[in-house]
Amino acid sequence: MTSSEDTARTAGSLPPGIPDGIRHYIGGRHVDSVSGATFEVLDPATNRAYTTAASGDAADIDLAVAAAKEAFETGPWPRMRARERHRILHRIADAVEAREDDLAAMESFDTGLPITQARGQARRAAENFRFFADLVVAQRSDAFEVPGGQLNYVHRRPVGVAGLITPWNTPFMLESWKLGPALASGCTVVLKPAEFTPLSASLWAGIMEEAGVPDGVFNLVGGYGETAGDALVKHPDVSLVSFTGESSTGQTIFRNCADGLKGMSMELGGKSPAIVFADADLDAAIDSTLFGVFSLNGERCTAGSRILVERPIYDEFVARYAERADRIVVGHPQDPATEVGALVHPEHFAKVWGFVEAGKSEGRLVAGGCRPEGLEEGNYLRPTVFADVPMEASIFQEEIFGPVVAITPFDSEPEALELANGVRYGLAAYVWTRDLERGHLFAQSVESGMVWLNSHNVRDLRTPFGGVKASGLGQEGGYRSLDFYTEQQAVHVSLGPVHTARFGAR
Ligand code: NAD
Repeated sequence: MTSSEDTARTAGSLPPGIPDGIRHYIGGRHVDSVSGATFEVLDPATNRAYTTAASGDAADIDLAVAAAKEAFETGPWPRMRARERHRILHRIADAVEAREDDLAAMESFDTGLPITQARGQARRAAENFRFFADLVVAQRSDAFEVPGGQLNYVHRRPVGVAGLITPWNTPFMLESWKLGPALASGCTVVLKPAEFTPLSASLWAGIMEEAGVPDGVFNLVGGYGETAGDALVKHPDVSLVSFTGESSTGQTIFRNCADGLKGMSMELGGKSPAIVFADADLDAAIDSTLFGVFSLNGERCTAGSRILVERPIYDEFVARYAERADRIVVGHPQDPATEVGALVHPEHFAKVWGFVEAGKSEGRLVAGGCRPEGLEEGNYLRPTVFADVPMEASIFQEEIFGPVVAITPFDSEPEALELANGVRYGLAAYVWTRDLERGHLFAQSVESGMVWLNSHNVRDLRTPFGGVKASGLGQEGGYRSLDFYTEQQAVHVSLGPVHTARFGAR
């Protein structure tokens, strides 16, 4: 243990159950990296290291993929009846729920998320397993009776070894969003969680064992994207890659999947607009747009980080919004009063800070833009609001992924649409108006994978989830997720003589 870890460990703030060193999990065994390499894991509230994690590379990925391949080719998992996998997935959900308190404490400690917002994560993660467990037994396959003597039906089978690569924002929940459908479909997996936040992922091994998942079905290799992640994407025995992260990383992975013609699912970045028309319920719009960008520390892909406000209510909106943003409680992630905690990592904090500095000349700073008083160490930033932000500003165009919002006025619906669509991203959009006809028509014209009318992001697991433009490729949610991990084979059965041109018979 380094002296800095020592300091963090003796500071009395460590939640229980933190391992002394986080290891890979391969073929049912906890193992160190083949090379022995590790990296330090930092507490975002102090930036002091509190533990180390095994840093995997191609050699560890080879072992994990070999274990997953063996489990896929010779093990029971892909051949199990759906009903049996359904039971095991529900047991995974039970095991996740049983760890709710530990998970919330770990997630808050590792990511800097306020503890009250980390609390729901276990339930949502468990729900992902229950949902896909139920879906896989309710699933129907198409069958067509062809008049004149043929029956066609669709036979589904799991694709193979899935590589799952996840980001650091709400890490455990996002891991469950991939593990649920991949395992429900009968695939075996290698998970590569984000290097900033390896802590909660260390719970998966115990959860899978408790639920009775056979060895080799679930494997986990920690480490950096450029080493462990890259090797996983390029491994010839990995049939498909499900990735959530930045758009630029998605582009690299896309290129690296090309050689193997691998299936890909990409959930990428966002710069989602909230469009507030003058007839909106202003109180509700203010509550919702504050929550939409400042919850989860602003580190959420669907954050409504650009607010477009119709001119007649613009000044009032900005004044009230800034006043509320100023009163948001920024504090230690473990404090139940905290509304915005510490950003995940000093590297990310530096990136966000760069945008705050840029924003000071690109727009009009009306709240935040500095550290909160009394929090001199750690990655803390006061909720930051810029008004009068023009479309070409970097804080309008780029994903900041922190508690920073840009507000821009508009005078007409076409202008609102131009502003809304004037970025390279297209993940979510939020429309605020009491005129439902306008709401629907505007929603249908926004270039985004998901739109909420008069609401922030509240989602049913059956609906499509995903982005357009630079925000993603492919939609997940409901059966779409199962389809991704499943091959659909068309079986054509003739029920009578088949007309055949008799080549060579003349
Ligand atoms: P990131 O792209 O830096 O990293 C994501 C994961 O990819 C990490 O595990 C990382 O180690 C790995 N990685 C990095 N380079 C790689 C490479 N060359 N090959 C293989 N793997 C590699 O993203 P991040 O900073 O961890 O997460 C934040 C981003 O995720 C934001 O852009 C956010 O919008 C996006 N996100 C999107 C969604 C969505 O559903 N659309 C959800 C959550 C987060």
